[in-house]
Amino acid sequence: MADFDADLFVIGGGSGGVRAARIAAGHGARVVIAEEYRYGGTCVIRGCVPKKLFVYASHVHQEIRDAKGFGWSIPEASFDWPTLIAAKDKEIARLEGIYAGNVAKSGAVVHRARAVFEDPHTVRLSTGEKLRAKHILIATGGAPNHGKEIPGIEHVISSNEVFDLKELPKRIVIQGGGYIALEFACIFANLGSDVTVIYRGDNILRGFDEEVRAHVRTEMEREGINILTGCTVAKVEKLGDEYVTHLSNGSSVASDKVMFAIGRHPAVANLGLEKAGVAMNPDNGGIAVDDYCRTSVPHIYAIGDVTHRINLTPVAIREGHAVADNLFGGKDVRVDYSNIPTAVFSQPEVGAVGLTEQQARALCPAVDIYRTDFRPIKATISGSQVRTLMKLV
Ligand code: FAD
Ligand code: NDP
Repeated sequence: MADFDADLFVIGGGSGGVRAARIAAGHGARVVIAEEYRYGGTCVIRGCVPKKLFVYASHVHQEIRDAKGFGWSIPEASFDWPTLIAAKDKEIARLEGIYAGNVAKSGAVVHRARAVFEDPHTVRLSTGEKLRAKHILIATGGAPNHGKEIPGIEHVISSNEVFDLKELPKRIVIQGGGYIALEFACIFANLGSDVTVIYRGDNILRGFDEEVRAHVRTEMEREGINILTGCTVAKVEKLGDEYVTHLSNGSSVASDKVMFAIGRHPAVANLGLEKAGVAMNPDNGGIAVDDYCRTSVPHIYAIGDVTHRINLTPVAIREGHAVADNLFGGKDVRVDYSNIPTAVFSQPEVGAVGLTEQQARALCPAVDIYRTDFRPIKATISGSQVRTLMKLV
C-alpha cells in the first residue's frame, strides 16, 4: 500500500468519474481525480444540460404561438440568441463550480490536468507530476465523429461547437438521424431557423419502435423541418457567406451552418492504454470491460461512454457508483442494463423503455399492442395540430 500515492485515480471529471470519485472518497479511500477540460464533462458542459436549456428556449416559441387560443395577446415577440448563450454560459459555469467543489468536498484531490498512463499503476499529469495508484478508473467519455474525410469537412461543426455559435443560423443543414441531430433540428426550427436533416437510411431514429419513428418524422415535417432520407453529405462548399452542401443523390442545399451529428467515439487517443495493457473491445471500439466494469487489467476499470455500450449519463453515473461501492464499500453490485429508459428531446419528445413492438414480435409468439394517437387537450383550443402517440407493448 505504502508505495501508492492513491487508492483510486480517476481519469476524467464527467458524469461517471465525478460520481465514482465522490463515492470512493466517502468510503474513506484516498482518491485523486484529473480533468483536462471542465469538471462536469460532456453532459454538463456540452451535452444534456445546455441542450435542455436550448430545448426550453425553443419551447417558449410554441407557448407564444399557442397563447392566442388561451386568450393572451402578445405583441410580436423577438428572440435574441446572444442573450440565450450568455445565460447558458453563466449557468454552466455555476454547475461546473458545483461539480468541482463537491468532488473536492468529498475529500478527493482534484487536478485540472490531462492524465495518461505511464505504466499499469502510474499516471502522468500534463503538469509533469506522476502518481502511482492502486486502482485506476478510466472515465474519459467520448467525442463527436466526423465521418469520412469529405471535401469541405473543415466547414462542418459538431455538437461541441453548436453551443457557442455567435449567431442563430437562419438556415442549417444537419446530417444524422439520431438523438443529437433530431434534438438540434427541433431546437433550431423552433427558434426560427430553416432546418434540413440529411439521413442515410429510410427513416430517422433507427432502433426505436417503427410507429414512433414514423410519428416523430410526421410531426417534425409538419413543423416545417425538411427531412431528406436515403442520402449522405458528399461535399461542403463555402461560397461567400453561405455553405452549399452537396448530397450523394446529386442534389444540394444552401445554408449558413452545416452540422454533423453522426455518432461519437470513445476518447482513448494518446491515453497510453498500450502502456497499461488495457484491451479494446473489437465489437464496439470501446474499452473492453466485464460485468464489474473491470478492464483486461484487473486493477484498472472503465465506465461510461469510453466503454461505448449505452452512452447515457445515468448509466455512466450508475457504473461509477457501482465501481466505487465494490472497491471500497464492501458491496457486490453488477449494473443491470435491462430496461434502461431513454428520452429524445425532439419536439414532440420521445420517451421509451423496454422492447419495441418489432423486438417483442421477434421474441414472443403472441404480442398484445395497446396504442392511442390523439390530439392532447392543450392542442385543442390553442389550435396546434400536434398529436401524441402512446403505445404499450
Ligand atoms: P463525459 O461526461 O464525457 O466525461 C469525460 C471527461 O473526461 C470529460 O470532461 C473529458 O474532458 C475528460 N477527459 C478525457 N480524457 C481525459 C484525460 N486523458 N485526462 C483528463 N480528463 C480527460 N445523455 C443523457 O442521458 N441525456 C441527455 O439528454 C443527453 N444529451 C446529450 C447531448 C449531447 C449534445 C451530447 C454530446 C451527449 C448527450 N448525452 C445525454 C450523453 C452524455 O453526455 C454522456 O453519456 C455522458 O456525459 C457520459 O459520461 P462519462 O462520464 O462517460 O463521460
Ligand atoms: P446516434 O447514434 O444517436 O445517431 C447517429 C446518427 O448518425 C444515426 O442516425 C446514424 O445512422 C448516423 N450516422 C452514423 N454514421 C454515419 C455516417 N458515417 N454518415 C452518415 N450518417 C451516419 O448518435 P448522436 O451523435 O446523435 O449521439 C451520440 C450519443 O449520445 C447517442 O447515441 C446517445 O447515446 C447520446 N445522447 C443521448 C441523448 C439523450 O439521452 N437525449 C441526447 C444526445 C446524445 P444509422 O441509424 O443509420 O446508423
